[in-house]
Amino acid sequence: MKVTVVGAGLVGCLLTCFLARRGHEVTLYERRSNPRKAGAERGRSINLAISERGIDALRRVGLDRQVLAGALPMPGRMMHAVDGALTFQPYSADGTRAINSISRGDLNRILLDAAEAMPGVEVVFDHRLTGLSEATGTLSFDTPGGPVEVEKAQVVLGADGAFSAVRAHLQWRPGFDFSQDYLDYGYKELTIPAKDGGYAMDPGALHIWPRGSSMMIALPDPGGSFTCTLFWPKSGPGSFADLDTPAKVEEHFARHYPDAQALMPDLLDDYAHNPVGHLVTMRCSPWQIQGEQTVVGLIGDAAHAIVPFYGQGANAGFEDCVELDRCLAETGDDFAAALRLYQDRRKRHADTIAELALDNFIEMRDRVASRAFLAQKKVEHALERALPGRYVSRYELVSFSTVPYADIRPRLTRQRTQVAAALALLTAGLLATRALLKGPRAKP
Ligand code: FAD
Repeated sequence: MKVTVVGAGLVGCLLTCFLARRGHEVTLYERRSNPRKAGAERGRSINLAISERGIDALRRVGLDRQVLAGALPMPGRMMHAVDGALTFQPYSADGTRAINSISRGDLNRILLDAAEAMPGVEVVFDHRLTGLSEATGTLSFDTPGGPVEVEKAQVVLGADGAFSAVRAHLQWRPGFDFSQDYLDYGYKELTIPAKDGGYAMDPGALHIWPRGSSMMIALPDPGGSFTCTLFWPKSGPGSFADLDTPAKVEEHFARHYPDAQALMPDLLDDYAHNPVGHLVTMRCSPWQIQGEQTVVGLIGDAAHAIVPFYGQGANAGFEDCVELDRCLAETGDDFAAALRLYQDRRKRHADTIAELALDNFIEMRDRVASRAFLAQKKVEHALERALPGRYVSRYELVSFSTVPYADIRPRLTRQRTQVAAALALLTAGLLATRALLKGPRAKP
């Protein structure tokens, strides 16, 4: 089949690799200029965490090693208290499993190179999709040379991100459900540069400054720096709107992030010039539509954009590619049938990770700082060590497994019920033993 993919971001490029591997001819349209010539776009996260689901997808197209070669493993979180005290909390029971910090630009370039190297693939930059008719199969693009039309596209797959133009053209059809929920929080990136030729903090951790109703995180970059992200309210006290002068920013950092401030020589400049990004959850249905000429599908953020607090948006989008590839194999590459099957299988998992990601914001900004939370994690890890493979924490199931997202909650409930039953039996046994021992003693 001749397939049109819109959006050469992370998911569009990986999807192109999967489709080309199945023998399809793919034209991949991207609104930006070639990133290998134009450099990174400002305002997107500079690095991101890739974990097992993403690695599994990359492994299937032979790219895992190349991607991981440039990644920095983060086997745990490092919590920074206001007084500078550090607490390391491993992500896994044995402390060895890690999520991986990787440059978004490098990952996109690796995927783009891989897609372009596949037979039957053409990548077309500087083409912004502006129109789509699934009835006639006509695609309209804005290009530097003026508007361009492409006719009779048979299959169009929208991998054009959270604000998808492909989705926008489906959105007004009767029966198309769509919702977008913005958080009252925004994000802004700052930098902790390399210090004395090395990292200014431990690069083997995801750093968190939990401050109750807001937080900052930092991920190591390959060059020795850290990219920090503030997740702050958009309005009200301590918000981006409130902290609008250099003096206020300095005073706020001195009060809430003094250890980080000492490592940020460009704080005021970064703060003044880096944009505030929005945090949004987008849900829609259906993810596919069969027109007279064309079948249209959505994938990655275009189908389900989520907030970044579980580090799963790209991982989930990569899993979409694996599932669509599986559905194509099962339907003999009948795209209409495969896209329906893919939506049936994937939608509930996308909805679940959207919820888990929202829950994790509260955990990261607030709960991780409490002693009770740390104690709970220690008990959880002890249970995992005592019952390997039978008791697995939520974090590990999300980040270090490919257990479908929607199966995680029922599994956790089952595990907890089993542990509670075992504890009840143990307690009953102990009480019975104590009662026996307390009984009338035999005379010597
Ligand atoms: P995108 O990456 O948005 O790519 C879409 C592509 O389509 C872009 O290249 C764009 O230029 C192009 N495009 C858009 N419109 C058009 C058009 N009209 N015509 C042609 N081309 C078009 N995920 C993780 O897994 N781990 C993390 O740690 C993580 N951290 C994050 C931190 C932040 C602050 C944010 C905001 C997100 C984070 N994510 C993370 C989520 C992740 O960035 C997204 O889920 C991922 O980028 C989705 O990939 P995509 O290819 O679907 O969309």
